[in-house]
Amino acid sequence: MANLIYSINGPVVTVKDTSDFSMMEMVYVGHKRLMGEVIGITEEKTTIQVYESTTGLKPGEEVVGSKTLLSVTLGPGILSNIFDGIERPLKDIQQLEGAFISEGQSITSLDKNKKWNVTFDVKVNDEVKGGTIFARTKETDLIEHRSMIPLEVEGKVIEVKPDGEYTAYETLLRVEDKTGKVHEVALSQKWPIKVPRPIKHRRPISIPLVTGQRVLDTTFPIAKGGAAAVPGGFGAGKTMLQHQIAKWCDADIIVYVGCGERGNEMTQVLEEFSELVDPRTGKPLLDRTVLIANTSNMPVAAREASIYTGITLAEYYRDMGYHVAIMADSTSRWAEALREISGRLEEMPAEEGFPAYLPSRIAQFYERSGYVDNLNDTEGSVTIIGAVSPQGGDFSEPVTQNTKRFVRSFWALDKSLAYARHYPAVNWNQSYSEYVDDLSAWYNKNVARDFLSLRDEIIAILHDEQKLNEIVKLIGSDVLPEDQKLTLEVAKVIRVGFLQQNAFHADDTYVPLEKQYKMLKVISYLNSACIKLVNKRIPVSLISNTGVFDLLIKIKYDVPNNNIAMLDEYPAKIDELLATIV
Ligand code: ADP
Ligand code: MG
Repeated sequence: MANLIYSINGPVVTVKDTSDFSMMEMVYVGHKRLMGEVIGITEEKTTIQVYESTTGLKPGEEVVGSKTLLSVTLGPGILSNIFDGIERPLKDIQQLEGAFISEGQSITSLDKNKKWNVTFDVKVNDEVKGGTIFARTKETDLIEHRSMIPLEVEGKVIEVKPDGEYTAYETLLRVEDKTGKVHEVALSQKWPIKVPRPIKHRRPISIPLVTGQRVLDTTFPIAKGGAAAVPGGFGAGKTMLQHQIAKWCDADIIVYVGCGERGNEMTQVLEEFSELVDPRTGKPLLDRTVLIANTSNMPVAAREASIYTGITLAEYYRDMGYHVAIMADSTSRWAEALREISGRLEEMPAEEGFPAYLPSRIAQFYERSGYVDNLNDTEGSVTIIGAVSPQGGDFSEPVTQNTKRFVRSFWALDKSLAYARHYPAVNWNQSYSEYVDDLSAWYNKNVARDFLSLRDEIIAILHDEQKLNEIVKLIGSDVLPEDQKLTLEVAKVIRVGFLQQNAFHADDTYVPLEKQYKMLKVISYLNSACIKLVNKRIPVSLISNTGVFDLLIKIKYDVPNNNIAMLDEYPAKIDELLATIV
């Protein structure tokens, strides 16, 4: 007997009196075969959320089960692509603005006709199991795609095609398991998006994800395999910061999930990304990037799915042995999708109308980050960077607060800094990174033994400035003792000359760690040299008149990235200027 739609409420559809469906099963709804997922089963009814627009859908239309979980297709052709939240290719950015994909159309995620040049790693009689890399293809100019045996397959290869050109969907390999059952393996396979892909084991965090952004790398670093949140009100610079990281960070693969933002903003993102060039190779950045776009005018349930689709694609490339960074902009829009669906289900709302399971959903997402040993003994990582956009920039709301529990880097964007055009507007008093200790051995070995002590020194000066500012607010700076006036001057050098970074300047947009370190060293040298003078009762105003502070503020523009050694000359320059006082 057919299962017929009983009720429709926005993206939520129910079917009465059925025992045919199971939880989280993917179903096809109505004669247009809209994609949906079973999200509730009781004796009386089955509840389904639909990932496509239900406009025009009527009670009495049929719902058909698929006996599988909501899944994405994994295989070559993911990179350089733009997908919607359920991994349907958006061929044209026009689709983002207009009526986009025709509903219920069954299009394959990956190009059915494209042939890939395949080299096999296995031969007949080889034993293989889930995760074994069996073939390689050049997916883009930058990335080798390493096809893996599906997780449920284990056994002996009984047939392999010769090296050559094949599509993603044709059978290339036959594997016979212990029971004699033969499994067919292609370049592509399915994976349910809400199930984390298995790993051998997690490794401790020990390597930074270098972004070239000083306020992140030096002051509040993120680790490969770590998780960070970027909370900030509208216009604080979340999207810009995510873009800077996507462009410059030293991950192999970037997954960028544009979630619930306006269509025109996403279009801009996509246009910008299409023009970007990977700075390390000169090839298009899209060669190592996949974009998932779910604009505010697309169906709300697909927005909920887009986060899981993104993280699943990220894990897939991790499993090949790559370092993957995933950016989600914005997780608040995703949480709002959860809230909307929960409301339609008439669930008991918790804080601010969000469902009670909001914290566990946020946790499940961030817990899929990690630095791991893969089943095939390669190592890889997934680093998650989630933007949070609280109404009015109020960080006490549930999405920001719950996200904070599950990430270890917190980059609080501050509207007043953005307003003062201090970019990136990362507030140094509210932000933190809990990865510093995990990374210290790496810094000692790869940057310098005094890198972290220099970092601590500038952070201490910034904290002192914050305390002094309270006093200055009450009584003005004139009455401060000279050593405290010096603190304010040096803090300004740190804020303007170091933390502030110009995304539009050819050299300043990305700064290697070595330059960050040498800049710190010069600032520290300045600080000690000035303290000596102040101890000799030389007024800070005289020091300031030498132009030494201005000299340091300009270092970021005056020292090009290809001549970092120039920074070694700065202590002498500082001495020279200071010598003019005496
Ligand atoms: P959000 O995503 O938080 O709403 P955006 O990232 O879109 O904010 O930033 C809003 C505007 O602020 C940008 O269009 C740009 O003009 C400015 N801006 C943000 N970050 C920077 C930056 N690093 N350098 C220069 N301008 C910036
Ligand atoms: Mg934005």
